[in-house]
Amino acid sequence: MTVDEAVTTHWLFGDQLGPHFTDPARGGPHHAAPLLMIEARSVFRRRRFHRAKAHLILSAMRHRAAELGDRVRYVKADTYRQGVREAMGDRPLTVCHPTSHAARAFVDRLPSVRVLPARGFLVAHDEFRTWADGRGTKHLRQEDFYRWVRATHDLLMAGDQPAGGRWNLDHDNRQPPPRGASELGVPAPYRPHESDIDAEVRADLDRWVREGDVDFVGEDAPRRFPATRREALAALRRFVDHRLATFGAYEDAILADDATMSHSLLSSSLNLGLLDPAECVERAEARWRSGDVPLNSAEGFVRQIAGWREFVWQVYWYFGPEYRKNNTLRHRGPLPDWFTELSPEGTDANCVTHVLDQVRETGWTHHIPRLMILGSLALQRGWDPGAVTDWFHRSFVDGYDWVMVPNVVGMSQYADGGRMTTKPYTSGGAYIDRMSDLCGPCRYKPSVRVGEDACPFTAGYWNLLHRHRDRFEHNARMSQAVRGLDRLTDLDELLEQESRRRD
Ligand code: FAD
Ligand code: SF4
Repeated sequence: MTVDEAVTTHWLFGDQLGPHFTDPARGGPHHAAPLLMIEARSVFRRRRFHRAKAHLILSAMRHRAAELGDRVRYVKADTYRQGVREAMGDRPLTVCHPTSHAARAFVDRLPSVRVLPARGFLVAHDEFRTWADGRGTKHLRQEDFYRWVRATHDLLMAGDQPAGGRWNLDHDNRQPPPRGASELGVPAPYRPHESDIDAEVRADLDRWVREGDVDFVGEDAPRRFPATRREALAALRRFVDHRLATFGAYEDAILADDATMSHSLLSSSLNLGLLDPAECVERAEARWRSGDVPLNSAEGFVRQIAGWREFVWQVYWYFGPEYRKNNTLRHRGPLPDWFTELSPEGTDANCVTHVLDQVRETGWTHHIPRLMILGSLALQRGWDPGAVTDWFHRSFVDGYDWVMVPNVVGMSQYADGGRMTTKPYTSGGAYIDRMSDLCGPCRYKPSVRVGEDACPFTAGYWNLLHRHRDRFEHNARMSQAVRGLDRLTDLDELLEQESRRRD
């Protein structure tokens, strides 16, 4: 380390807030390097974010700045460019690899910035590239990647074999909710207490709205997600101590009165950089090794982080900036206003109103409502995948470009034609009925596809298969479902009904 490096300022983006972004032992900046943080108002002006998300990001940045004290210069500017110019002029800066293509291109254009390797993920970009290039196929599968990460990082392994003898315990992990239960009955997730910094953030956001500078969707409410490393560690501890044991079996189940079920609610902390994924999976594994949680729960959680999260991050960079423009199914429909406004009055489908209510109130819902209700609705209706990506990005507290683009374009809208999934994730009402208690009170019936009681998901599913029959009948995992179209005696009526659908 040279004298110059010791005094070179290091810039922390708002999602680089944990100690692993300033750790010299891991290739981070020199321990004496001054730090720079920039709060750019234009970020909030460009998009209509959920109020809870804007609050969380600003609160986390300002809390971090308060912890770092004199070591950090905290600049409030209109744009990042202005912030850098004001704080640094042409003096050199280092920064850890930013998390979006736009931010990466921006720092690459700044003359005196040196970009350090990415933090907050298990696998380096070049390791992934070697793995992916070695597959010799244009399709990449999360399951293959996940097994490779498990083996190379020695996660839940017994020698060179998976602990328990099986890599995949999804079969044990797709249970419907317990019969007759309205709640899972596990201790509630960690919730933080607000500080004076939160009060300042709230006052600033209120003022910006009054001044007409920015506008938000969703409700303001006491902050629900960690804004500091200390809070994030408390949330992780509470999860592994009290909630991980039941994570596996019910990770796909939905109960109307139990929004969080056994989920960790750690996504926003991981994505803000307050937690490192390695510490999360290591603690889950330790709980299993000490006999406190069953293997299926530890494996389910490790799969989500070392499998899905890591895979999504890697493919975002591997597929490049053009990937977001994929629209293989040529879906161009606009999102209806009621959906973009998170205002469930626009539909009578109980599952959709329920989940939109949750998103409006909290900016969060777990993965099955995202995938099999909100995303599936968008896919069946043929909404533009770019607009759907933007909606998810703005409306969720954990939404960032790198995580939204693959999850929405690839996984939920099948807009990439199967580069990262084997089939479109969508279903009729029967799946939602099996996995939730939302259909009972609904005015529709999941088993009915035509007429007054027709479930929009059941009818929408067949409508989608019909629209894309030519493509889906060549997909090994869809062809049987497509053949089912030929057995529908009321298909014409169903198609006519769906062409008139307005909700
Ligand atoms: P848990 O169920 O407790 O899972 C543990 C952790 O695994 C999560 O905290 C998260 O970090 C990680 N994880 C699990 N699945 C994924 C995944 N598919 N992609 C990335 N990380 C994953 N997650 C986000 O962090 N930000 C998003 O913007 C986001 N958008 C999504 C959009 C769609 C359409 C879908 C289907 C999924 C999306 N996810 C996103 C993934 C997942 O839904 C959330 O990470 C999860 O629901 C967050 O709640 P949790 O922390 O309780 O997760
Ligand atoms: Fe949703 Fe259909 Fe069930 Fe109603 S019947 S809650 S629309 S799946």
